[in-house]
Amino acid sequence: MALDPTKQDQHEHAITEVTSIISHQLKTPLAGIKSSLEVILSGDLGPLSKDQKEYLELTLIGTEKMIGLVRELLDASRIDEGRFELHPVPTDIVAIVRGVVDDLTMFGQAKNTTISFHSVGVVPPLNIDPTKIREVVSNIIYNAIRYSRGKGTINVSLEKKGSDVEFSCQDHGIGIVPEHQKKVFTKFYRSPEALALATEGSGLGLYIAKAIIEASGGAIWFRSTIGVGSIFYFTLPIQ
Ligand code: ADP
Repeated sequence: MALDPTKQDQHEHAITEVTSIISHQLKTPLAGIKSSLEVILSGDLGPLSKDQKEYLELTLIGTEKMIGLVRELLDASRIDEGRFELHPVPTDIVAIVRGVVDDLTMFGQAKNTTISFHSVGVVPPLNIDPTKIREVVSNIIYNAIRYSRGKGTINVSLEKKGSDVEFSCQDHGIGIVPEHQKKVFTKFYRSPEALALATEGSGLGLYIAKAIIEASGGAIWFRSTIGVGSIFYFTLPIQ
């Protein structure tokens, strides 16, 4: 049964509030669990058997995933409540993209996918929030790897275009059907193809990415063909 628009607003507001409260409550204990695990794994409290180390490493990976999800939920509630802040400083965007590509290369190899990065011509420094823009780049390339199913190379590029710098990331993966394309930047959206692949995901990454890019004065969009692949773009203005 559909709620009337006022009730729908109240309902969404209540969800945002509950999400924000739960995420805040989880943030500190999860950080504590992570640092305890790191101390135990370092061996400072005594030697660990191979099995103990393996189980603790898996627990650490799980904890880091939960921390990532809580961070996304907190970012999404800050966006919804208009409390989302950027801290722009002069930044080398080429170094940011190269860093993300380097960090994700091993993950790509594990998924039989290679990532190539080209920076075309001279790309000037930008006045942007380096942490937030890194999150956007990382999310787009991470998605390209996960939704490629090991098909082909991912081509990442950066290029100065007029008064903007344009980022693009092309994959040869599952693509997105036309009737679902308008939902991709909405909160919690995951396509049926993504769900069928059984990849983990919250459906928050691109919702947050859009807010970050637009708050930075840029635009974000994509083109996609089902079964052929997708290409995601964003621009950022040169001041
Ligand atoms: P998540 O990947 O965590 O589910 P995102 O907000 O990053 O969340 O992406 C939303 C949805 O958009 C994904 O679940 C997937 O259905 C679709 N999507 C994003 N990037 C791609 C891509 N490169 N290829 C195919 N589908 C994609």
